[in-house]
Amino acid sequence: MRISVDEARALWNEASDEELIGRANEVRDRFHAPKRATYMVMRIINYTNVCVAQCDYCAFYVLPNQDGGYILSREDVFAKIDELVEFGGDLVAFNGGFNPRLPIDYYCDLFAAVRERYGNRVEFYALTIAEFVFLADRAGLTYAEAAARLRDAGVHWVTGGGSEILTEDFRKRHAKWKYTVRDYFEAQRAIVESGMKTTATMVIGFDETLDERLEHLQRTRDFQDETGGLFSFLCWTYKPYGTAFGGREIAPREYWRHIALSRIFLDNIPHIRTSVLTQNEGAFRALDYGADDFDLPIEDEVTQKAGARIDLDLEGLLAIPRSLGYEVEYRRAERPAVLAS
Ligand code: SF4
Repeated sequence: MRISVDEARALWNEASDEELIGRANEVRDRFHAPKRATYMVMRIINYTNVCVAQCDYCAFYVLPNQDGGYILSREDVFAKIDELVEFGGDLVAFNGGFNPRLPIDYYCDLFAAVRERYGNRVEFYALTIAEFVFLADRAGLTYAEAAARLRDAGVHWVTGGGSEILTEDFRKRHAKWKYTVRDYFEAQRAIVESGMKTTATMVIGFDETLDERLEHLQRTRDFQDETGGLFSFLCWTYKPYGTAFGGREIAPREYWRHIALSRIFLDNIPHIRTSVLTQNEGAFRALDYGADDFDLPIEDEVTQKAGARIDLDLEGLLAIPRSLGYEVEYRRAERPAVLAS
């Protein structure tokens, strides 16, 4: 049965780990076979590090007139994808900054070129919702118009990244130029209505309160009730090194408990994903707490600049969930039915 925010708060404050694991697995079992998990090998391609949003938790960006800014060429992007394919991966996620020098044509030309070169052999997440909002705003397009431009360039997915904690107050404290929560969901609705696919994400471990975490989960569940457009929910943890905000990393157990609470609360989202990128070996323990899916990333400059460690021994990593009793199976990114031809 669905739980309320008050019940979620009580579970967080009072439930033992065993109780959370048991409740989370009741929900997990509705969607997935027990002791089975899926994974993807992927690469995040940071196509530019120039950004005007100035989020205080980010160690990645440079401002437009500072030294060290870059924009990847098409050849750079292809080389990175080719290397991913050599690793056995088939999923790319494009993620960069709010770069005012990049017009929407840069994105559409790049994505069309990637689709033309790789067809459906390689799938890609083109941008996060946050970048999409910036792109539409800069181009003077409605979200629906911008979504149509991307879709017509061969894009199938725009992920729910850039959400961090979806409360207006959190954004005012840490990312006041990253648009509002309202903008975020309006844009994501346009992505769903355009026929493309999307996902939900969350980042914990800043200074957010329990009520803010619960508000994020409530907004996500409500959006899914209204649209049915969220394929998965991925939560990762804040890396504080080299950021203006600073702080410390949360303990793995807090992350696992949050994964369990998310699995219980988000009873309408099929996949709960655990973050190897930010939790490394500890991410696999979250499978016991209700997660069913994970990425093995080979690069992400954004989190690596803030202290993330990437392990390229993929077989060594896969041995960990196997040692916990899980059968693991490779999962290919789905192509939206409406766009299939
Ligand atoms: S988190 Fe993203 S939007 Fe914020 S400053 Fe960094 S690159 Fe820019």
